[in-house]
Amino acid sequence: MKVKDPVCGMVIESTTAAAHGTYGSETVYFCSVACQASYDQKHHRSA
Ligand SMILES: [Zn+2]
Repeated sequence: MKVKDPVCGMVIESTTAAAHGTYGSETVYFCSVACQASYDQKHHRSA
């Protein structure tokens, strides 16, 4: 499944994403742990 990293806008494959997390009921995928760290500053991670 192709997904979009909401931080940098890069389109990535969910199975090869460097990082992912659950925010509310939504799973968000990232190209790198740095992008996830940035996202975490503005969004509460559930797990
Ligand atoms: Zn990114």
